[in-house]
Amino acid sequence: MILTLKAHATEKEIKQVTAKIKELGFQAHVSKGEVKTIIGVVGEKAITTRGIFETITAVEAITPISKPYKLVSREFKKENSVIKIGNGVQIGGKKIVIIAGPCSVESRDRLIDIAKRVKSVGAACLRGGAFKPRTSPYSFQGLGEEALRYLSEAREITGLPVVTEVMSPETLELVGRYADVLQIGARNMQNYDLLKEVGNYKKPVLLKRGLSATVEELLMSAEYIMSRGNYNVILCERGIRTYETATRFTLDLNAIPVIKHHSHLPVIVDPSHGVGVRSYIPSMGLAAIAAGADGLMLEVHSKPEEALCDGSQSLLPDQLTKMMKELKGIAAVVGRTL
Ligand code: PEP
Ligand code: MN
Repeated sequence: MILTLKAHATEKEIKQVTAKIKELGFQAHVSKGEVKTIIGVVGEKAITTRGIFETITAVEAITPISKPYKLVSREFKKENSVIKIGNGVQIGGKKIVIIAGPCSVESRDRLIDIAKRVKSVGAACLRGGAFKPRTSPYSFQGLGEEALRYLSEAREITGLPVVTEVMSPETLELVGRYADVLQIGARNMQNYDLLKEVGNYKKPVLLKRGLSATVEELLMSAEYIMSRGNYNVILCERGIRTYETATRFTLDLNAIPVIKHHSHLPVIVDPSHGVGVRSYIPSMGLAAIAAGADGLMLEVHSKPEEALCDGSQSLLPDQLTKMMKELKGIAAVVGRTL
């Protein structure tokens, strides 16, 4: 339920309302506008307390939220959220953001080489896995903290903020010390303990859609993070599992307008995992921007044949250069910049 306070409500009035919400056992999420403050009353059956708030004079209007997700919903916040992720980069504004880099960090020199290349063609953020969720326990699992140090060095050299995956609550402090954005991988989208911890941690989070998750389940996972007070959530469509075998997953471009309709959070699309085949990635990346995505996450490798993970879906730097030019054209058509 949303409480809209009367115009220019005082700090004292806001405190009075939030105290009442807490006293009733609910969470109060305050959003202050220039004129009006709105307060989300969040918790199971919050709507049953409507009558109590009707008697408080500072409360001008009460609006129920019909969806199971509350803070994530457009009903709670009408304007698009813009997430600031460091070094002036913002996701969800007019500018399309390209996050590019290797699937996993393999060595210092290779990472720095790829980071410089993606920076030179206009990527705004560097990606690279230090802790890798692999299907096989015998596959390369990532370099762990060593990789985090290389990512940090690459950020110092290029100025690119770093996006890297955190796989467990136990490693959150460690990853959080180095990362600008904490990636929650598809396989962890419903790891609720991890979601709660990143919700408490307050750094921006890039939440990837689970392989078999519905859009509503993705939004409910985002709600876990936001309900802990971390409003810096970026959603990521990365393909879902279907009966189709020509591609690794099926990139669900439907999810972009659907999420935009139901939520104010920014949406990034990862066509690399979504299709899994290098030659198909540019088309799907362009289509994602045309459909309204706020940015792309792209795997890029200078020697994909030597990559320790996802080489066959990694773009070559030259392909990225070409794609960036094409993206500029599409961005302009849909009123965005790159
Ligand atoms: C990744 O981004 O490297 C990754 C493992 O992605 P996903 O969780 O979407 O499979
Ligand atoms: Mn990968």
